[in-house]
Amino acid sequence: MQNCPRKNFLLKWGAVALGALIALFALGAPVLAAAIKAASATYVVVVDAGHGGADAGVTGVRTSVKESELNLKVARLLGEYLEGGGIRVVYTRTADGMHSHKNSGGNKKRGDMFYRGDVINKSAPDAVISIHMNFYTASSRRGAQAFFDRHSERGREFAEIVQELLNRDVNSELGGREYAALSAEKYLLSCSPYPAVIAECGFLSNPLDEAALSDPDFQARLAYTLFQATVIFLNSSRAG
Ligand SMILES: [Zn+2]
Repeated sequence: MQNCPRKNFLLKWGAVALGALIALFALGAPVLAAAIKAASATYVVVVDAGHGGADAGVTGVRTSVKESELNLKVARLLGEYLEGGGIRVVYTRTADGMHSHKNSGGNKKRGDMFYRGDVINKSAPDAVISIHMNFYTASSRRGAQAFFDRHSERGREFAEIVQELLNRDVNSELGGREYAALSAEKYLLSCSPYPAVIAECGFLSNPLDEAALSDPDFQARLAYTLFQATVIFLNSSRAG
């Protein structure tokens, strides 16, 4: 009888250790090595969930789901993966709503963007990743795209890694086409000297993309792909 608690203890922690081992193998060796390196280097990543509050972004063509809601879900999942890899995550928002800023000039949207810019600049992050959902007049358009600021070489490198993995994991399945990372003139990309990417995760103007982006399993896969891309970028940048 006296041995039972000890046996239970060993069984319990043996199961935990086995679970951890399986999880590590599932990650794949390169990502695992990167995650361990990242953990020891205490990287900082700003995760930005686009829109929020009165600014809902675009809405789903079939269900009217708000972009701001989906962005937050994917951003939270991405943040959890990054924190699991030992990376410090700074969110620009963790709930629905908008932040104000003293220099907004009464414009709520501008105030919210300035607030996000302040968060990024105060955090001095190793990378910034902003989550959005796309919309296009042609409802047939599908897939995920990464954007960078054309003045930022490291932003371009980050976006190219994000795009490569989105093509591999998402676009091969959704829509069956690949995209190239593109430059875009966006405040969030140009408001700081830190490498920043906007991930437009799919098109809410397409019913099939909308259904996928609304599915919690797909959101988790998408977040995991973005996590992998971020870790690969962090390691490539620090190694250089
Ligand atoms: Zn958006």
